[in-house]
Amino acid sequence: MSQQSRHPFRHPSTMISAIEAETRIRALICPLSQQDPASTIEGVLITQALGRILAQPVSSPMDFPHWDNSAMDGYAVRYGDVAHATPENPVTLKVIEKIAAGDHSQRLLQNGEAARIFTGSILPPGADTIVPQEGVQTQDPQMIQIKEAPSTIGAFVRHQGEYYRAGTPLLPAGIRLNASDLGVLAAAQYSQVAVYRPLRVGLLSTGNELVAADTPAPLSPGQLVDSNQVALGALLQTLGITPIALGIVPDDPLRLKATIAQSLGELDVLISSGGVSVGDYDYVEQILEDLGAHLAVRAVAVKPGKPLTVAQFALNPSGPLYFGLPGNPVSALVSFWRFVQPALEHLSGWEQSPSDRQVTGYTTADLQGDSQRETYVWGKSIWGTDPRSQTSPAPPGYWFTPACGSKSSGNIIHLSQVNTLAVVPLGQRSLGAGSPVALWRLG
Ligand code: AMP
Ligand code: MG
Repeated sequence: MSQQSRHPFRHPSTMISAIEAETRIRALICPLSQQDPASTIEGVLITQALGRILAQPVSSPMDFPHWDNSAMDGYAVRYGDVAHATPENPVTLKVIEKIAAGDHSQRLLQNGEAARIFTGSILPPGADTIVPQEGVQTQDPQMIQIKEAPSTIGAFVRHQGEYYRAGTPLLPAGIRLNASDLGVLAAAQYSQVAVYRPLRVGLLSTGNELVAADTPAPLSPGQLVDSNQVALGALLQTLGITPIALGIVPDDPLRLKATIAQSLGELDVLISSGGVSVGDYDYVEQILEDLGAHLAVRAVAVKPGKPLTVAQFALNPSGPLYFGLPGNPVSALVSFWRFVQPALEHLSGWEQSPSDRQVTGYTTADLQGDSQRETYVWGKSIWGTDPRSQTSPAPPGYWFTPACGSKSSGNIIHLSQVNTLAVVPLGQRSLGAGSPVALWRLG
């Protein structure tokens, strides 16, 4: 492979905009929700379903609440008995029973009667209103006095079906199940749910200089720890994906080609870092072409992360995708956040609005842009008022502060605790401190 033949595409015209890259990547994806259900849907216990994507809509044959029940500790009454109660003309009612949560009374409440009741207890037949205990005189626990009329019939009653009507949609397919969704499923007596299988994502690093993260210290001169494998693996885990670690492959085109070719059949996505730039040892694109992949993205007008290779293997209609990320730790992570994560989420069957992750905030410091490339500045954003001044007129919002040294894409140290990318649009030389800025909130 001569240097010339390896990089014919490095002509500036092959560099596409971030939006164009996003569009091309999306066009490659066949979400699990559009693939053969026999191979994409599985049942899991709800206790194991956190973070999984619901594959089928769910409904329940039960109303919520299941029965008319009390919203307060107090007394169940007939509204007609107490509708005219005042401090001057209190109404006296006979307490005929006590209904604890879980009890179920059969006695019909007659005029002039009340039942002691607790939050969640089923209303006895005949009762239609709850008087909270705070509004009741109870010198004699058998004979209570009510000095104030309830605001309305049905006060403090949680009516059957008020939250949810049996048979109507409860949860839609395509949501990522969170803790409260699992509570809803449990309440509806689901023990298992149908979810999409986790994505099979392989992860490899390329570079002669790289050593595995568990290599005993000290490093030999020239060696560098493969931190990308650890950080990218952790990012995959946050998406509910257990990465298939393919380790470190040296800058040897034959070994790299063999590793890629051998692993593809098992994977939905293969992610590599390193070797996609224009150095003498950057072989990834040529190998992908030799293996018959369709290269959809070769370089993107973004900073950091310009060299980004996205390809698809036509092994089947939903053939595996390849993401070749730059090796620099910051570039690798920024490329993952900006391009790979949305692609994996879309592939996983998760139906979410792409705008969900972007917000407009403000920057506390000047941000430098670039005339040729959309620029991502990494740092931290917090919600609040302008941290630079107590008297700022700006309303509360996300305030972004760049990480120290956030211009060097090799500076892994200042990636620590980064939670946001600020976007300086293409062609904009700078954004002044205090300006509004588009923020990608990460994680
Ligand atoms: P490359 O994209 O292969 O030209 O690598 C660019 C820079 O990133 C070089 O300084 C590499 O040593 C470094 N690098 C490449 N891969 C990794 C990795 N897996 N972990 C940490 N640094 C890396
Ligand atoms: Mg390299």
